[in-house]
Amino acid sequence: MSIKEIMQTMDYGPAPESATDAQTWIAAHPVLGHFINGRFVAPEGATVDVVNPATDAVLAQVAIGTEAEVDAAVKAARTAQAKWAALPGHDRARYLYAMARHLQKRERLFAVLEVLDNGKTIRETRDIDVPLAARHFYHHAGWAELLADEFPGHTPLGVCGQIIPWNFPLLMLAWKIAPALAAGNTVVLKPADLTPLTAYAFAQLCVEIGLPPGVVNIVNGDGSTGAALAGHPGIAKLAFTGSTEVGRILRRQTAGSGKKLTLELGGKSPFIVFDDADLDAAVEGVVDAIWFNQGEVCCAGSRILVQESVAERFLAKMTARMAKLRLGDPLDKTMDMGAVISHRQRQRIEALLAAGEAEGATLHRAPCPLPAKGSYVAPGFFTGTAPAQTVSQTEIFGPIATTLTFRTPDEAALLANDTRYGLAASIWSENLNRAIDLANRVKAGVIWINGTNFFDAAAPFGGMRESGFGREGGRAGMLDYVAPKAKSGALRAAPAPLAPVSPALGKAERSPIDVTAKLYIGGKQARADGGQSYSVTGKAGVIGQAALAGRKDVRNAVEAAGKATGWGGVTAHNRAQVLYFMAENLAQRETEFTAALTQAGTPKPQAEVQATIRRAFWYAAWADKFDGRVTATKSSHVTLTVNEPFGTLGIVAPDEAPLLGLMSLILPALAMGNRVVAVASQSQPLIAARLYQVFETSDIPAGAVNLLTGDSDSLAKTLADHDDVAALWYFGAANGVAAVESASAGNLKPVWAEAGLRDWLDPAQGLGMEFLTRATQVKTIWMPYGV
Ligand code: NAD
Repeated sequence: MSIKEIMQTMDYGPAPESATDAQTWIAAHPVLGHFINGRFVAPEGATVDVVNPATDAVLAQVAIGTEAEVDAAVKAARTAQAKWAALPGHDRARYLYAMARHLQKRERLFAVLEVLDNGKTIRETRDIDVPLAARHFYHHAGWAELLADEFPGHTPLGVCGQIIPWNFPLLMLAWKIAPALAAGNTVVLKPADLTPLTAYAFAQLCVEIGLPPGVVNIVNGDGSTGAALAGHPGIAKLAFTGSTEVGRILRRQTAGSGKKLTLELGGKSPFIVFDDADLDAAVEGVVDAIWFNQGEVCCAGSRILVQESVAERFLAKMTARMAKLRLGDPLDKTMDMGAVISHRQRQRIEALLAAGEAEGATLHRAPCPLPAKGSYVAPGFFTGTAPAQTVSQTEIFGPIATTLTFRTPDEAALLANDTRYGLAASIWSENLNRAIDLANRVKAGVIWINGTNFFDAAAPFGGMRESGFGREGGRAGMLDYVAPKAKSGALRAAPAPLAPVSPALGKAERSPIDVTAKLYIGGKQARADGGQSYSVTGKAGVIGQAALAGRKDVRNAVEAAGKATGWGGVTAHNRAQVLYFMAENLAQRETEFTAALTQAGTPKPQAEVQATIRRAFWYAAWADKFDGRVTATKSSHVTLTVNEPFGTLGIVAPDEAPLLGLMSLILPALAMGNRVVAVASQSQPLIAARLYQVFETSDIPAGAVNLLTGDSDSLAKTLADHDDVAALWYFGAANGVAAVESASAGNLKPVWAEAGLRDWLDPAQGLGMEFLTRATQVKTIWMPYGV
């Protein structure tokens, strides 16, 4: 073609990236086994084909790891861990730095292997996957260097089991391995069986840089291998990225095991376009939101919400832009889109699209021709979708978005949150007031204003609601790979069974202070719905009766908490004032509380009351100081990490230290803006009745704190089951820990459950940043700027 002809047609010529080096690498590795204890191990079990989704060609065979292979890898990681953790942070930093450098030196090989394995385009692997993976290792070399200074009093966890999906194989590997190693953990990583190539090449890189054997182990395999890893008693933490369905299985599987769990799951993220947005920029945003990586992106902007007044214009622009997308050979540098991961995935996507059409939505597809071979899906979007339809609620995980219109910002917020997920959101408006207001209201872990799918190793990434819990990247990500130094090994015993109120025990005759405790719900004292009480025994016999709360009372309390939304919105200074006021009112009644605790038989009654007053001051002090950050990410971006309250937080207080144990949990939760439904000590609940008198005089809004008494474990289970409880803290016996962790799989609420006894009087155990961190979830808000 002559230059003149090229200028006339302005068409793209082919611009293929050479696959020679990658093909040579693949030819040298026809069977991918495992990487255990620094050695490549031939598989002992079955193998399956590794297929290039763009051509359907079989590239290699990959092992399906067996239980024995998982066991060998965990053992190697355990053996290596103590030495790895004992290295100075600087030495670990050198290894992580070497990983980053070696990745960069082989960036083309990694980029092409990823294209062949996954079907995504070379433009994306070259410009996004590989550079971001390298950036992750650099960033975490930094955390290794700074660990002792920045996380004093923390230790690594031990061996981390890590399970990753196929949509960003190398990048997810980096997100998992880098923070784990920086913190002094060792890892056993299981790649997705569909995309094992780059993890294998990464294992070679570990050998090349002289990483001590056993620090990184890679066991290939499918779900059965993942299940064996998750169930292995030798791992201290499980980090998972994948579907919400498997996340739920893993929550149940690890319940009660003591393993720390973080889950990065699916999403159905809103992409919100206001009438004052730069519409052309927003259309380019759609390209990056839903057509990037064939839409196989957990945080894809898959629900486009457009303000009604510009909807027609916006959709016309979107349609025109979509028609220009180029789909085809992903090794061609001019392609926008490649193949989806497999024919199975293609069929799943097409079936969901058919369901959308059957439910009455209209599907618009790009007119691009599909290559004859390979699993390709033409990009598109739906119009005429209703919020409750399958395609509006189900993650399609392909290049098709739904569209809806809205009229007001309130309606946009409602629609944005009309999903069980909460991973990300993208907001387009030239009016920052509007955009930030909505960013504040959308329940999602990552918010992009006038942009989408920005990532950086310094910016925490992770979900809310059924998109999972835990963060990857930045300081928040590091916190998920360390633990505060162990407090105590002794396990808490289950409290004595409840004593019914019999006529003989009905009156607390021996007590100078006769108390009949009620519940405290929505700012009012309330009798238990079932009309039942139970007897409370103190040092010298029965000291009173407490209301026996049931499921209905939990529901009432959660509803009251749900209505007290104002508490999260008042200034931190206001919350601090309320906590100071609580301390003041408690101080005025110090003698009375001390007497009540003496009667209850707690070992150090006066010290407990005084420590509670002091703790209220401490959390009042932190209320306006536990700040978010401005995080250094890309140039021309302000990236905020905000510590957000969960909303309604359930608390099941320990049986010991009836006042201090309960208040050590309520205070940080309130200080951070959560509304609380708290269950008092089962055996000494009467103190709760005195506490609500303190709350009543402390200006705390009705419903912000609710107190229940009764059978702790059955109330805990109801709280764990309840979808409107956003997070749960449980301090009980080991079997209770297992029960609440398992029950929480319903809405995947984060659970902090501890069976180890704490000495609540000891400030090192009873208060600290851990409580504030647990009381909040990080929201990362990206704001690019520039004209
Ligand atoms: P998947 O959940 O089936 O598989 C993910 C990984 O888990 C794979 O390695 C798989 O082998 C393993 N696995 C499957 N069953 C298992 C079990 N019972 N026990 C242990 N491990 C098991 O998901 P997928 O189909 O591979 O990936 C697509 C999904 O992942 C999408 O829903 C997407 O939203 C989600 N995803 C989320 C993120 C995120 O950061 N939140 C990132 C990428 C993908």
